[in-house]
Amino acid sequence: MITIAVDDTDSEEGLCTTYLAAVMMKRLGSLGEIRGSPRLVRLNPCVQFKTRGNAAIAFSLHTDRPEETKEVALKTLMELSDFSGTNTNPGLVVAEEVPAELGRFYRRALDEVLEVGEAEEIIERHGLWSRGFKNRRGLIGALAAMGAEFPDETYELLAYREQRRWGTSREIDEESVWRADELTYPGTWDTVDHHNKKVVFAPHSKDPVLFGIRGENPELLRFALDSIRSEPFEMAVIFRTNQGTDAHINRGEIAGVAENRSYRLRGLVAEEPGSIEGGHLFFPLSSEDGRGGISCAAFEPTKNFRERVRALAPGDLIEVYGAVKKRTLNIEKMEVVRLAERKVLKAPICPSCKRSMKSAGRGQGYRCRRCRTKAEGKVEVALPREIEPGFYEVPPSARRHLSKPLIRMRGEKVHPSR
Ligand code: ATP
Repeated sequence: MITIAVDDTDSEEGLCTTYLAAVMMKRLGSLGEIRGSPRLVRLNPCVQFKTRGNAAIAFSLHTDRPEETKEVALKTLMELSDFSGTNTNPGLVVAEEVPAELGRFYRRALDEVLEVGEAEEIIERHGLWSRGFKNRRGLIGALAAMGAEFPDETYELLAYREQRRWGTSREIDEESVWRADELTYPGTWDTVDHHNKKVVFAPHSKDPVLFGIRGENPELLRFALDSIRSEPFEMAVIFRTNQGTDAHINRGEIAGVAENRSYRLRGLVAEEPGSIEGGHLFFPLSSEDGRGGISCAAFEPTKNFRERVRALAPGDLIEVYGAVKKRTLNIEKMEVVRLAERKVLKAPICPSCKRSMKSAGRGQGYRCRRCRTKAEGKVEVALPREIEPGFYEVPPSARRHLSKPLIRMRGEKVHPSR
């Protein structure tokens, strides 16, 4: 069995590593048999060199022709990579046996920012066949994808456009997409965004992807595909993936967070959330022991999720999930664990007629003008809260690839955003 892994072949101008891998698999079909589903592996979303979603691909081929396999793989990479892209640094790794230490390399690539030298050292130590181009950074993603194991997993079906249509606007019958969602949700998700009334499963860039359907199993994805009407596509491939699993999230303490990593942090809302220009919402979160503090953000693209964040109040105990950049956690979802009681001082209510009592004059307490009942002063009244305990998330249009959608969280008190 041979494992082939590839990364960093496309640019903003076009192409796509998943497409390149799909073509590679088709070509390699004549040299052996592809075993299992190819893996679409998302890595650390905070890596700044990424083109879009920091994805890499690995797949396995059963063959007794390893040399020809490498030749075909390399030829395909040379043909379908955008070498002119300033930030495109293709990497290809082929292994007859995947070294066990790559499992750890994958987990670190999900979480940290690694150096290409480390990938090269591992490749050399195990004598793996590889090709890295330009600054060779793609070797990091390729090696990580090769070692990836998924304790939890989902699937994505990617349909690829005919080459003659690349760069033109996509012809997709939106009504059929809404119907496909209706027929397969919650087994599929993030095809459409109901609240924001948008189809979100198709890119708008020049790349070969027509659309991607995400879901729990391959059968449902095929069923959804069959109900979508669109321009003809060259091929559709189902990938097994760590998308939608929270594989990037570390349980952490506020005081110990590091830049460019993703966390689940528990703390108390320290101040009322406030907006800045552009509609971005921020609030400070403090650890329960008061030893740490961090700023949390719901940016404008998170749309209606901001209403849930705005409903938070000082003293609420919450857990936030997201990536830390510039000492700010970008919220992907949150759990409201315990709401603080919000109280205001109000004039007392007359026990007889239930009307609000009036001040009887400075320092003389309150009295009811009708019933003449008296009271000493203002009373504390609990304010109703506009949010209840449970999980809340950003809408499909703002979802991070790796974020686990609430619809996948069974047995919890969830408020899925659809
Ligand atoms: P593509 O569709 O081409 O995969 P992308 O958005 O996934 O686009 P890439 O073009 O693959 O992004 O760019 C990401 C680059 O960052 C790759 O070179 C990859 O090897 C590298 N990389 C991935 N994870 C890490 C990491 N944890 N630390 C350092 N570099 C990383």
